[in-house]
Amino acid sequence: MNIPKINVGDRLELKKKHPCGTAVFTVMRVGSDIRIVCDGCGRDMVLPREKLEKAIKKIHPAVDEEHE
Ligand SMILES: [Zn+2]
Repeated sequence: MNIPKINVGDRLELKKKHPCGTAVFTVMRVGSDIRIVCDGCGRDMVLPREKLEKAIKKIHPAVDEEHE
C-alpha cells in the first residue's frame, strides 16, 4: 500500500478543485482529521485523513520550499 505522508506546511494538489478555481491547499494541522487552507481564497476546511488521502493528486513537501 502506498500511503502518502502528510506534514504541516505541505502543499497538496487535489484532484478536485475548490469552487474558487484553485486546486492547491496548504496543510495547517495533521491528526485523524486534517485541516487545509485553500491557496486561492484562504478558506480552510477539515477533512478526515482517509478521505483527503484519496483526493490527493500531488504533494509538494514543505521542506523543499524552505530550502535556503
Ligand atoms: Zn478556494
